[in-house]
Amino acid sequence: MASPPPRIVHSENVSGLINTMMSRHQLRPSDIKKERRAFVVHGRGEFCCNFCPNSWESFYSWIQVDLKDQRIVYRWKMKCKLCYLNPRHIGVEPTFDVEETEKMIEKAIYS
Ligand SMILES: [Zn+2]
Repeated sequence: MASPPPRIVHSENVSGLINTMMSRHQLRPSDIKKERRAFVVHGRGEFCCNFCPNSWESFYSWIQVDLKDQRIVYRWKMKCKLCYLNPRHIGVEPTFDVEETEKMIEKAIYS
């Protein structure tokens, strides 16, 4: 199988992005309640295996966003389908492009 051309993943300035999007919705970190600050959302994430050249994407890449701290607090790892038998391969975390990150932040804001 021919590998697709590498896609450019923009570096994520997640805190800045969350800040911008929250102010667009007139939301400040102080408006977010302590006990209701973290939201689990998913989007199209990109994965690069750390053991082989394999890379893939998944529309079900899950993250947890904290709207009070304005950061991604957790990214669920996914295992490479070629390396999952390797006990040293514990999976890799997804990265997202800016557009996708914005969509997920919106989901968190509206949930
Ligand atoms: Zn791999």
